Amino acid sequence: MRVYNVLRKKKEDFLPLDGNKVKMYVCGMTTNGLVHLGHARQAITFDMIYKYLKLKGYDVLYASNYTDIDDRSILQAKEMGISPLELADERIKIINTTWQNLGVVEPDFRPRVTKCIPQIITFVKDLITKGYAYETSDGDVYFDVKKYDGYGRLSNRKIDELIDSVRIENADNKHDNLDFALWKHTNEGEFGFSSPWGQGRPGWHIECSTMIKTYLGDQIDIHGGGKDLIFPHHENEIAQSYCENGCDLAKYWLHNGLITINGQKMSKSLKNFMLVDDLLKKYDSEVIRYAILVNHYTSTQDLGDEALKLAEKNLYYFYNVLSTIKECEQNNDLKDKFYESMDDDFNSAKVIADLFSECSKYKLKDARAGGAIKGVLPLIKDILGLFKHEPIEFIESLKQKYLNILGITRKEIEDKIKQRLDAKQQKNYALADSIRDELVSCGIILNDTKSGTSYDIKQLY
Ligand SMILES: [Zn+2]
Repeated sequence: MRVYNVLRKKKEDFLPLDGNKVKMYVCGMTTNGLVHLGHARQAITFDMIYKYLKLKGYDVLYASNYTDIDDRSILQAKEMGISPLELADERIKIINTTWQNLGVVEPDFRPRVTKCIPQIITFVKDLITKGYAYETSDGDVYFDVKKYDGYGRLSNRKIDELIDSVRIENADNKHDNLDFALWKHTNEGEFGFSSPWGQGRPGWHIECSTMIKTYLGDQIDIHGGGKDLIFPHHENEIAQSYCENGCDLAKYWLHNGLITINGQKMSKSLKNFMLVDDLLKKYDSEVIRYAILVNHYTSTQDLGDEALKLAEKNLYYFYNVLSTIKECEQNNDLKDKFYESMDDDFNSAKVIADLFSECSKYKLKDARAGGAIKGVLPLIKDILGLFKHEPIEFIESLKQKYLNILGITRKEIEDKIKQRLDAKQQKNYALADSIRDELVSCGIILNDTKSGTSYDIKQLY
């Protein structure tokens, strides 16, 4: 197996630190909002990686956190008149349901920051004792970036360049602009925890380093997250953990690419965050999974309406082919290709492309292709989470969805088909054609075969 290791900027053989055991950590969501497509891409990517590693026989321990407190969620809770922890509980319940609906498995550990405060305090205390961090007169604690030689390794940046690039924060007492907060004081009446430095809250980066140490140990095999986390978040995790543990935090750093929505970057100002719960009212969860996995996980990907509609259409095509595959002898043609693709940095895009070309062959009456598709299907179901529905059920429910959108009933279409047949029998071809045209203009296409006329939805082709 080979994976693209962002730390060394190349594909490398995957060799875990300790035999068959794989420890994997992925930075999870902040509970100041609900699951949007960016979160979904990350969760579905690492869900696939987790499941594939298990399929390959690795003994995987997977942790992904919830940042259940931050400035925004504290503000939101205040406005709602509840405590930040109540808000986090409520949100996590909703978020977990979204994961379930998307078919994302629950990691082995789901640590929450507010449940790890004593461990975070110990970690920060250690860093101060070792001389890598300092306390300010305000009760903040900062990591002293210049004390760690390796800073910038992951993001490939030099410290001096970084100093120029970071915004000047309002923290007056920092030794250096690049230094980042391990602990931030909170004022009287604000939400916080007591600590040796007075009341405060942990900084963001320290929570991941602490949770990894607590739940998985000093060193892990895979650290994952979105590309946007490389700097400063992951760079800072590496620095803190190295200074605390005296060893590299993770052997492989895997980052999923970012997404755009209808060609634009997702941003708060554009208000183009598509919430997964809203999309699930419009699309089957497999449509979202497919739209994500049809691209390699490292690519930048557009996930707007167009992409989702295309994914829905493609699934409709695949399910239609699947519904026609009769009992046949399975073979390993596609199964072997599946393992090859997935061994090559989890290339789900290639898996789907191979399935597509085999479906085309099957449609041209290549019986061996049918056996190949049947052979690979259980793997695609388990690892990619696709094609789990009964083909006929999926096809019919998608048809029904579009009939509702088009505002036409099955009975109305069947009546028209019957009228057209009558017209044909009476050799009134002009009438027959006008009935067909009328249906086409309503978005319904007809297929005449020896056994009769069937109909389908124009938009799904
Ligand atoms: Zn993190």
